[in-house]
Amino acid sequence: MEVQTLKYPAIQNYVAGQATATAGAATLDVFSPLDGALLSTVPVSDAGALDAAVAAAQAAFPAWSAVPIKERVQIFYRYKTLLERDVRALSDLVREENGKTYDEARAEVEKAIELTEFACSLPQLIGGEVLEVSKGVECRSERKPLGVVASIAPFNFPNMVPHWTIPNALVLGNCMVLKPSEQVPLSAVKIAELLKEAGLPDGVLNIVNGDREIVEAICDHPGIKAVSFVGSTKIAKVVYIRATGNLKRCVALGGAKNHLLVLPDANPDMTAANVAASMSGCAGQRCMAGSTMVGVGAIDHIVRKLVEEARKIVPGQNLGAVISRAAKARIEQHIDEAEAAGAKILLDGRHAVVPGHEDGYYVGPTVIDYVTPDMRIAREEVFGPVLAILRTTTLDEALALENASPYGNAAAVFTQSGSHARYVMDHASAGMIGINIGVPVPREPFSFGGWNESKFGACDITGKSSIEFWTQLKKTTTKWNPESRVNWMS
Ligand code: NAD
Repeated sequence: MEVQTLKYPAIQNYVAGQATATAGAATLDVFSPLDGALLSTVPVSDAGALDAAVAAAQAAFPAWSAVPIKERVQIFYRYKTLLERDVRALSDLVREENGKTYDEARAEVEKAIELTEFACSLPQLIGGEVLEVSKGVECRSERKPLGVVASIAPFNFPNMVPHWTIPNALVLGNCMVLKPSEQVPLSAVKIAELLKEAGLPDGVLNIVNGDREIVEAICDHPGIKAVSFVGSTKIAKVVYIRATGNLKRCVALGGAKNHLLVLPDANPDMTAANVAASMSGCAGQRCMAGSTMVGVGAIDHIVRKLVEEARKIVPGQNLGAVISRAAKARIEQHIDEAEAAGAKILLDGRHAVVPGHEDGYYVGPTVIDYVTPDMRIAREEVFGPVLAILRTTTLDEALALENASPYGNAAAVFTQSGSHARYVMDHASAGMIGINIGVPVPREPFSFGGWNESKFGACDITGKSSIEFWTQLKKTTTKWNPESRVNWMS
């Protein structure tokens, strides 16, 4: 049997500031979607490995939480400059392990920098309150960290999603166990190295690799106070129920089926370009991807332009790979089924091959018209560069389709009418709304998070809303009798 060599050293866990071997643990191979090359291996850790990471985080917590936030934040200012210094290498690594284009990988790392910058502003945002509530009696409330918290990440943003949680949770005084996706574990190693270089004390951030077993152990571990999860809805539900069942706070972000409503008065060029980019960016592997377009009335002229735009998106050039061979097969199966069910394929990305990268996992941009609501492709998350177009005659019918989806991450409308835009803002059942914007990701300090089955839990995962998630309020009531002062000078 041919033995393939690893391009990167075998990944280890990271506990108390040290790479830590997991004796006897099984490993999984990590492949590059770009060409199928073997990059590394990742350990499938067990609950014992988690115990060690939680113990390290617990040991670090008293000292870390006692550091004033104005000092904690200095480490993250330094960290931000290190991310900027290494932006090229970090982007290359994201590209290699995830398969996206360099520009997309770089945009992801730049977003990580913005998230770090927001965390640096937290001292300005978390000041407490104090009020004299009756003569001589004062109430004061201040934000305190929770203790040891956990963050579980998906494959589609190996660098950015860990930054949704690490900077805010740590600046606010918590210690963390991060569980990266086993499909893209390399970026997390670099994040830990750079944080150490920036001066983060050992044990404040720990990394435990693995899959289902370690996620379940995180939900069960009595030493972990809060669990943040990002991934598919199926697993988000399991994690939310299990973590909260163990009396932890939890925010669990799930999958999506984002509807882009296109009205006949929409600007054709802008709409076509936006919809094509929304459905195909990051090879459609974004929870913000516009995967369903609902055309209202006479929009054939926009569909024609959209297909022209989508044709310009070429696998291996401005379109990256999907994460795995299995993902490619699943996406192509969705297209096959839609075709068999009577939908019309306007642009077919099945069986895409990139010369020189024949073993890469590519799917070309695919546009499917006359999809009906009962078809699987209209209901399920495809997570590939595939757009399903449904047709309605009224805006209310289009909104009814959007509202009927169990998901609710994002929704967008393309129109030049302010009143129609406002109507969609008010009636779409999604947490993030775009008006003439296909990927309406809120920028900091606004928070990121969907509705319905796209997010379980009360808080959003980033921005101001996340402050509530990562902290608890301590309320102190004080009373001093002004008459009882001792005059020690006499
Ligand atoms: P996933 O649910 O398969 O995996 C997410 C995490 O859960 C990984 O760390 C994985 O190891 C772990 N996991 C997998 N199976 C498990 C199981 N049976 N029990 C416990 N843990 C398990 O998701 P993915 O494929 O890595 O990521 C893609 C999904 O994430 C898509 O559905 C996408 O929409 C979603 N996503 C959502 C957001 C959002 O903000 N809502 C952001 C990014 C990705």
